[in-house]
Order: sequence, then structure tokens, then C-alpha cells
Amino acid sequence: MKRNERLARHTSFKIGGPAQLWFEPVDILDLRRLVVATYKKEIPLRVIGMGSNILVDDRGIQGIVIRLNSSYFKRITVPNSSLTYDMKQRDSCIINVGAGLSVNRLLRYAQSKGLSGLESLAGIPGTVGGVLVMNAGDVGDKVLHITVMDKQGRIKTIKRRQAGFGYRESKLDYYIILNVDFQLSRWDSRMIQKKIDRFLEYRRKTQDLYWPSAGCFFKNPSITKRRINTKHRSTSMSLGSAAYFIERCGLKGSFVGDAAVSLKHANFIINKGRASFSDVLKLKDCITKCVEGKFNLRLEPEVRIWR
Ligand SMILES: Cc1cc2nc3c(=O)[nH]c(=O)nc-3n(C[C@H](O)[C@H](O)[C@H](O)COP(=O)(O)OP(=O)(O)OC[C@H]3O[C@@H](n4cnc5c(N)ncnc54)[C@H](O)[C@@H]3O)c2cc1C
Repeated sequence: MKRNERLARHTSFKIGGPAQLWFEPVDILDLRRLVVATYKKEIPLRVIGMGSNILVDDRGIQGIVIRLNSSYFKRITVPNSSLTYDMKQRDSCIINVGAGLSVNRLLRYAQSKGLSGLESLAGIPGTVGGVLVMNAGDVGDKVLHITVMDKQGRIKTIKRRQAGFGYRESKLDYYIILNVDFQLSRWDSRMIQKKIDRFLEYRRKTQDLYWPSAGCFFKNPSITKRRINTKHRSTSMSLGSAAYFIERCGLKGSFVGDAAVSLKHANFIINKGRASFSDVLKLKDCITKCVEGKFNLRLEPEVRIWR
């Protein structure tokens, strides 16, 4: 437990004031003790993964920020039930993964064991908990069960269909995700590596990985909301993506303070040095207004804003 831990140190944006309290539990019991105490005292509680999809207020955060950073929350195990299951369905395997594990390490494990299904996560700088909440790379498709703790310290198991996975969203926000059972398919390790390499290459080519950011700032608008004039077609951006609309507004390279719209990917707001929370918010508002004015379309942030 630490006081006034600067969250800029824990976010990929490198922006954010202090968390009143920062807590890294050793195991579930340790976590439960804190959760029960904070519930009774009505202290606000949030969970952070790698902080790669969060924009934090420079004034800081009241309450407690929890990071599942101990080895306990980073374990990978193969449940016994998986062996029984395998007898019926030899091509698949269930693994149980701690929510604090990084996606990178999970992928290395899966590849080495010849387990396929998570390759679309390659290059996403998150933890297992973070990718589940955001349903990054449509990871929800591979989920069987999720074990969570609610804000009163009760442990529950949630099935995939109860988790409400959608485009960059889920209904897992209310919980602290502890671990998850993924159902993966057996495949050749070299083929899995090739698939991972393709995703990495694609992200390297298309994303701005030079400056601090939180990845894509806005969600891509849903198809039904799109009203695209065909004369705005661009070859570099997928039609109808948030980046497409931002680029067509001529906003690439525009900035407020040190927050700028990336020249490489128009949906990346980057921190070119000392961007503040309000620089990013002002730029976000400006983008939202421009796109709404030109395309009659309201972009919704994908990035979680903590204040
Ligand atoms: C350079 C870059 C590239 C990116 N590319 C992609 C991409 O290609 N595709 C994509 O989908 N995303 C991408 N992202 C966004 C981001 O990496 C993902 O959204 C990722 O899933 C966030 O994981 P995290 O662990 O960092 O979560 P955080 O950003 O720390 O948290 C995100 C949300 O999850 C919650 N959360 C985290 N852990 C838990 C837990 N254990 N229990 C309950 N809630 C939890 C937090 O409270 C918060 O609401 C990119 C980001 C960057 C910086």
C-alpha cells in the first residue's frame, strides 16, 4: 500500500496525478480484506491493469487504485476439468489465467504449448483483466468462465454470455476480475507464431508506437450510424473507422499544448512531452465537434476517463 502514487507512472499516456492510495494485494485473501473494508467505509475503488486505455486527471484520484501485480495474479494453470474435457474434444484445451498477467506473456505461453485462439491480442499492451473489460481483440470469444470479486468482497463465476461482451465493451466493470478460463484450440506452434507475427506487423505498420498514447482514442462508429459521402473515400484508412472521419476533417497533426493528433494514425491522440489531462480533453472535444459538424456523427471515446 502506498500513498499518493503518481498515476502518470502507470499509464501509457504518461498523464495523471496521484492516487490517494495504491494497493498491490499479495493474493485473494489480502484483496478481499481491503475490498470489504473499503465497502464498509464507502471508499471508491478502481482497478488498473497496464493503464493503456486510461486517461487520468492531473488532480489525481480519490480512493484506492488496485493493481494485481503479485505472482499470485499472474499464474497460468491447466484445470483438471480440461483433461476430462479433452477426452471428448481432443482439439481443445482450457487454461486458467490470472487477471494480472500481461498479454505478451500469455501469448508466449500459448504459442509454446501450441494453443491457438488469442493471437489477435498480439501487440496490445494490456493485462488479461484489461483486455477482458475492453473485449480487446474480441477476446471474449475465447472465454468460458470468469472468476470475479464484487465490491463487497464476494467471489462469483460469470459465464461468457453473462459477461456482455460487445465492441470494446463488457459488463465486467462492476467487478474485480481475478482469473479467467480460456478455451483454446490445439495447433502447430510455428503456425501460431506466424499468425502472431502478422498481427504484430500490422500494428507496427498502422499504429503510432513512438509517442505515449492510449491507443485508439475513439470507438469506431457503428455501421448503422455511418453517413459517409463517397467523395471522402480514402485508401489509407478503413472506410467508416473513427480515424477515417478524423482524417477527412483535416485534423491530423492538430494539437492543444503537447497533445496532438498523430500523423500516422488519426485516431491516436499522442503526448508529445508534457501534455496535460485538459490538453487531451480539449483536443478530444475539438475532434468530436469537427466530426459531428462535418459528418453528423458523434464519436464516443474508447479510452476510459478517470477523474
Ligand atoms: C500503443 C497502443 C496500442 C493499442 N492497440 C490496441 C488494439 O490494437 N486493440 C485494442 O483493443 N486495444 C488497443 N489498445 C488499448 C489497450 O491496450 C487495451 O484496451 C487493453 O485491453 C487495456 O488493458 P490494460 O490492462 O492496460 O487496462 P487498463 O487500461 O489499465 O484498464 C482498462 C479498463 O479495464 C479495467 N480493468 C483492468 N484490469 C481489471 C481487472 N483485473 N478487473 C476489473 N477491471 C479491470 C480498468 O478499471 C479500466 O476500466 C492499445 C493501447 C496502446 C497504448
